[in-house]
This record gives sequence, C-alpha cells and structure tokens, in this order.
Amino acid sequence: MNEQVQEMLNTAHRLAALGLSPGTSGNISCRVGETIYLSGSGTSFSTLSESDLTILNNGHVEGASPTKEMGFHLKVYERNPEATAVIHVHSPNATAVSCLDPWQPYFAIPPITPYVFMRVGNLPYVPYEHPGSPELFDSIDKVEYPYDALLLANHGVITSGTLAQAEQACIEIESLSGLHLQLLGHNPNRLTEEQCEQLAKKAKRPWNRTDYRKT
Ligand SMILES: [Zn+2]
Repeated sequence: MNEQVQEMLNTAHRLAALGLSPGTSGNISCRVGETIYLSGSGTSFSTLSESDLTILNNGHVEGASPTKEMGFHLKVYERNPEATAVIHVHSPNATAVSCLDPWQPYFAIPPITPYVFMRVGNLPYVPYEHPGSPELFDSIDKVEYPYDALLLANHGVITSGTLAQAEQACIEIESLSGLHLQLLGHNPNRLTEEQCEQLAKKAKRPWNRTDYRKT
C-alpha cells in the first residue's frame, strides 16, 4: 500500500480513538499525484481499511461507493492546490459550536486561546445547507476568505493541508470549541483582533483577507 494511504488510515484511527469521528460520521481523503483516495460511504474512521476507500483518478471512480460529501473534498483541493489531505469530522464540541452564531465570518469561534491561530488561521463559517447537497458545495465555493479549515453551520468541520496539518487542525478546533462551550454564560477575556493577526502572521496562516501562507 502507498505510504501516504497507510498514514491516512492511521490518522483516521487516531481521530476515532480521540472521539472526534463518532460512528460512521466524517470522511477523510489524501491526494497522491493525480489520484485521490477517499473513505467510502458508510465507513467508520475506527476500522478504516484499504477496502473501504473510493479511488478517483481523472474522473474515473473505483473501489468503495463514494460518500455524498465527496464534492466538498474536490472543492477544497481545487481551492488549495497544495493540499494533499482533506478531513471532515462531526466532532462533538466543534459541531455544537457550529450551531451558534459565528464570531466573525472568517473565524467562527471567539478567540480565547492562541493555538488555533498558530496552527490554522482563518476558520470561515459556512451557512447551513443539507449535507452532500449542491447548495453546500456552492456555499463552500463562495467562501471569500483564504482558508485551510471551515466550520459548516449545524454540521461539523473541514480541514486541509498535509495529513499531519489537517489532523492537528481537527484537534485544535475541537479543543478551542470545548473551551468556548465551557465559557458560555461567562464573560472571558478574549484575544484582540490584532493579537490574532500577529499569531497567524508569525505562523504563516491566513487571517481575514490576507493569505500569509503565500507571503
Ligand atoms: Zn458531514
């Protein structure tokens, strides 16, 4: 098996062990040259194996039957040509936060700790559309901010980059979401917009309309 595909299976198993991909929710893909390997419909991160993968090559689809969420993996690869992995999870805390109003359209969660800005940068909020619908793929297309990760309203998270970056992003977003939920009803001190930008800039992450990945 290709090394990157093996690493993708290991990543899925780790995310499941952390409780970030309950049941058969979520999907994960990696791009090796022109070929995309994507977890198939109804498969589980905890037991994901080579026979569970859909293989896309120049418009040909082979292997396991594709997930209805395949469309947004393709959209994110199109948008971020350097990305070699896309991960989508319905992780509990981030999904809970996705049901609240966003802090900013380019960063959905109020800024209370620095780590997501260093690892992820922008986390644009994508308004609710039904899972797998063309309307959802359209709203992802219309995101006007540079990003490696998205929060889908009332649904979950999409992350991209290398497999390691996308995995870390899922973990950091889940962690920040958990803290935000614990602080609901309190009045925590927040980082300032300027502090968020300084962190993102230093770590070469996108912030608001500026793509520091490219500077
Ligand atoms: Zn989903």
